[in-house]
Amino acid sequence: MSLRFSAISNLMTNGHSKIDVAAKVTGIFGSNVFTLKTAREFLSDEAFKSLQSSIKASQKIDRAMANQIANGIRAWAESKGVTHFTHWFQPLTGSTAEKHDSFFTLKSDGTPIEQFEGDALVQQEPDASSFPSGGLRATFEARGYTAWDPSSPAFIMEIGEGKTLCIPTIFVSYTGESLDYKAPLLKALDALNKAAVDVCNYFDKNVTRVTPTLGWEQEYFVVDEALFNARPDLVMTGRTVYGHSSAKNQQLEDHYFGSIPERVYAYMRDFETEAYKLGIPLRTRHNEVAPAQFECAPIFEEVGVAVDHNSLLMDVMERVARRHNLRVLLHEKPFAGINGSGKHNNWSMATDTGVNLLAPGKTPKTNLMFLTFFVNTIKAVHDYADVLRASIASAPNDHRLGANEAPPAIISVFIGEYLTKVLNEIKERVTDKMDETDESMLKIDIHRSIPELLMDNTDRNRTSPFAFTGNKFEFRAVGSSANCANAMTALNTIVAQTLKQFKKDVDALIEKGEKKEIAIMHTIREYIVASEKVLFEGDGYSEAWQKEAEKRGLPNVKTTPLALDAMVSGMATKLFEGNNVYTHQELEARHEIELEKYIKKVQIESRIMGELAISHILPAAIRYQNLLANNIRGLKEAGLSESAFANQKQILEQIAEHINKTSDLVEKMIEARKVCNNMTDTRTKAIAYQSQVKDSFFDAIRYHVDKLELLVDDREWYLPKYREMLFLR
Ligand code: ADP
Ligand code: MG
Repeated sequence: MSLRFSAISNLMTNGHSKIDVAAKVTGIFGSNVFTLKTAREFLSDEAFKSLQSSIKASQKIDRAMANQIANGIRAWAESKGVTHFTHWFQPLTGSTAEKHDSFFTLKSDGTPIEQFEGDALVQQEPDASSFPSGGLRATFEARGYTAWDPSSPAFIMEIGEGKTLCIPTIFVSYTGESLDYKAPLLKALDALNKAAVDVCNYFDKNVTRVTPTLGWEQEYFVVDEALFNARPDLVMTGRTVYGHSSAKNQQLEDHYFGSIPERVYAYMRDFETEAYKLGIPLRTRHNEVAPAQFECAPIFEEVGVAVDHNSLLMDVMERVARRHNLRVLLHEKPFAGINGSGKHNNWSMATDTGVNLLAPGKTPKTNLMFLTFFVNTIKAVHDYADVLRASIASAPNDHRLGANEAPPAIISVFIGEYLTKVLNEIKERVTDKMDETDESMLKIDIHRSIPELLMDNTDRNRTSPFAFTGNKFEFRAVGSSANCANAMTALNTIVAQTLKQFKKDVDALIEKGEKKEIAIMHTIREYIVASEKVLFEGDGYSEAWQKEAEKRGLPNVKTTPLALDAMVSGMATKLFEGNNVYTHQELEARHEIELEKYIKKVQIESRIMGELAISHILPAAIRYQNLLANNIRGLKEAGLSESAFANQKQILEQIAEHINKTSDLVEKMIEARKVCNNMTDTRTKAIAYQSQVKDSFFDAIRYHVDKLELLVDDREWYLPKYREMLFLR
């Protein structure tokens, strides 16, 4: 029996697993996190104060205190049955990394002890050679080290019976180049903080800190593990490279907000429980539009912590799925023809005075502050659309952007009817001749009208890659498997840069003798005019928008190898160096790494396509072909006329054609791959993989294979079909 049929018959007996669910989330929330509250309990006053101030200033902890803090953390961890610790980090491979060491060690005289020293807490040297560095290590120093980022608390990861203390760290080379996602993110957040505080101080001198906030929405698919294992393409690439769409797809839209299937429900409750223990504040869960697709979202947090929590959750989701004989698919496009998965990044900025800078205010003054940050964000997206596009570019996201119900590769901003009117009004009424009366009138108008926005929030546009949703922007083009840090580093840097420029522009007007509010209004007006072409309220999925965007001169880069160019442009270097986020060298390295990742992913997909075609698809098709041929021969021998086997003959001809085409195309694809593999320049090679391998062959081969799936006897077909993966559980 093929794996496919044993998987299907197993399904009948696969009940949902028993799980431990706490009656109350508050009873377990954060129980595996070394929170400040826990720290208070386990640390001396001195050590606690030191840790607290490091967290506040997001600074490395004081070396003199490190031993004390490490001892406290170990005492806490041991009280929970932990035996090992690891530095947990987010290398550029895209997954998380850890290397476990035990507390157990031998003293020089051989006495066994348990210890965790300050040095081990603060800094470690993982074997960096297996992580991508984009050539940075070749040019600099071979080693890298991980360093604790105290702004993200230590936590305990439970894997089976084992418990490990994880220290969230950044990963950098000895000469200081960042080798992970987290280090540049922290720098971008710092840049934003400084730039935003300066601008806030026009309105409120009490603001001393601005913290960007992030609430991500994680979309994912769930499939039965046995069916998953019978699909080598899913195992190898996370997506199905073949598979005819099933008779029923998502056209009935009966999955969205429908009841959650029991087995998946048990899985969700189980991973949520794990997440709560880790302090991940999950809030919502629901079905998504596509069958077998779901979403979860937390309450928003500071960006750095939210990014860690998302990476951690993706890991937890994968581990917990196996306990339920399920697999979670975080890939952006596991199934052709139905919705892909994204990870909307809801983003805003909060002041230490408790104000959400993207929430329309209640007074004229706070509204002007809102407008300032609102318009600066739009201007940032306008000016650096290509940088944002590059930050979400990946081989899997290429399958999603611009396809079924996913935003296009064109970066535009949706702000809703109401705010469009407000911006137009500013454009018309803020003129050089504006006097005191005009000024106050304008302010009052905005004041009166903006609060309505919150009620008028029904015209949300689901097709926009970057939408204002009442009190935050929602960056929707981020892919489901991506580390949010990439998008967040880009977004926070471009907004920081724009705010810095804004401050300069406003100050210049003030120096010329303009009143502060008027100077701000004039600069806002200027920014609206300069960036209005990025605003789009219509249907982002439509053909018409593609044309319109081209007319407006908005970039529309559909493939990753070209989208990544924006990381190494002169403009990007100026932007990232100027804000202390990346050096040019780091950008070059990242560019190289992303291109390499792209090449490898396309290469693996191409290989698995060839392998499956030759060893899974064609044998099945040929067996059925023989059956038909024998049948025709038999009927002929029995003296029946042509018309008696006309149908069989027709099917046979079709099968023969698809077999030939498939095998012919696979052979040509292998040749094309060889040509690409001989290329030495990474960018050229990536472009060639995209145009000569992926675009030239993937859809073409798939077309014939999917036709064969419809023609060949179902019993002969090895690969689980879409209807089985999507509808059986
Ligand atoms: P939806 O977009 O599905 O209607 P919500 O508007 O309630 O849902 O929020 C979606 C996400 O936006 C949630 O993860 C939420 O935490 C996040 N969010 C809400 N406010 C903010 C904010 N000020 N900053 C960042 N994220 C936010
Ligand atoms: Mg959303």
